[in-house]
Amino acid sequence: MKTDVVIVGGGIAGVATAYYLSLEGIKVAVVEKDGIAMHASGYAYGGIGHLGKTGSPGINDPVARLSSQLHADLKGTLEVNTGIDIEYRTKPVLTLAFDDAEYALIKKQMTWTRDVLGIPAEAVTTAEAAELEPRINHEAVGAVISQGNTNLNPQRLTLALARAAESQGTEFIYDCVTGLIKDRTNITGVTLANGSISAGSTVLAMGPWTSNTENWLGSKIPIIPLKGQILRLRAHGSPVPASVSWGSEYATSKADGLLWTGSTEEKAGFDELPTEHARNHIFQSVRRMLPYTKSATVAMQTACIRPVTPDGALVLGPVPKWENIYLATGGARQGIMLGPGIGRVTTDLIMHGSSTVDINPLSIRRFDG
Ligand SMILES: Cc1cc2nc3c(=O)[nH]c(=O)nc-3n(C[C@H](O)[C@H](O)[C@H](O)COP(=O)(O)OP(=O)(O)OC[C@H]3O[C@@H](n4cnc5c(N)ncnc54)[C@H](O)[C@@H]3O)c2cc1C
Repeated sequence: MKTDVVIVGGGIAGVATAYYLSLEGIKVAVVEKDGIAMHASGYAYGGIGHLGKTGSPGINDPVARLSSQLHADLKGTLEVNTGIDIEYRTKPVLTLAFDDAEYALIKKQMTWTRDVLGIPAEAVTTAEAAELEPRINHEAVGAVISQGNTNLNPQRLTLALARAAESQGTEFIYDCVTGLIKDRTNITGVTLANGSISAGSTVLAMGPWTSNTENWLGSKIPIIPLKGQILRLRAHGSPVPASVSWGSEYATSKADGLLWTGSTEEKAGFDELPTEHARNHIFQSVRRMLPYTKSATVAMQTACIRPVTPDGALVLGPVPKWENIYLATGGARQGIMLGPGIGRVTTDLIMHGSSTVDINPLSIRRFDG
């Protein structure tokens, strides 16, 4: 088989890249070993706030800004073009602090949100926070409320992008990529468990599995899997009107009527099995934020793995020493938020050799030495 671009990986990074390339009339093949959105892109939480848990987007910032804009555009077009509701909802975020140090930290992070991104945000007392959601834990010492945070269903988003890409001519191939086809320093396609694909350009969007390409490329690809688990709870009472968060824990009522809450950060290799230990930990955290969930029951527990680089930022762009091959991964805790930006930037690099946003800081070269 012959195509313009072959993309390895049917998660949000690969599928968003296929969407933007095929929108430009480029012939694309996506190769996926398990199924579209079968891993983190199908089982993430779906918050698409600009900031990571540190309260600052760091070197992902230009891609995060681009991606925020693209998400807003996709909200309008994807449902019309595919019939899939991606459950895009905007609501406030209520961040709780249970001691003075936590309160000082969330107020500091608030300045990024408010002063740099221009998103309305304010520090409030616990009593004021309870006006938004009376069921929060009144032992909190204070809170920050920020407006306009968006949440969506990551599985539906990834599947909608895939369906749109398919209708634009993208071909989806269910097979495992086993290596690269090389002509000196030029990458001319991939080998599969069952055949091969010749392509003008190759995109590696394999999430945490991108590290498997080290042998193919002969260089270090420092990406590790970081496991995360989520509970989808049946909780009595009305939906929570805000996304409630505390440190790296969060809870929000979703369109399926369940309260989604998580998550964990576990170094467990490529293991994606839910565990009782994580279930107990998440239950403890959500009860601390929202004590009324004491009587909630688990409708579903999910586990999946995030692709994480040593500095937690993306690896995006060409692979040094090789031609016509690109890395598109490292989304870590923000891969759904960053997905459309990853896809657009990779499309621009393939089509024009450059991108409208500065991605030099995101080059894999930063880990040399
Ligand atoms: C619990 C949890 C909650 C999260 N919540 C959020 C959130 O609220 N907001 C947010 O923005 N992000 C969130 N994330 C992060 C986000 O889910 C990930 O960063 C993102 O999904 C990564 O997408 P990806 O396409 O890079 O990788 P993946 O989704 O892992 O896709 C990679 C694909 O490549 C395929 N593949 C690998 N090797 C091969 C091969 N050799 N041949 C063919 N196919 C191959 C895999 O099968 C897989 O389908 C969360 C993650 C977790 C774990």
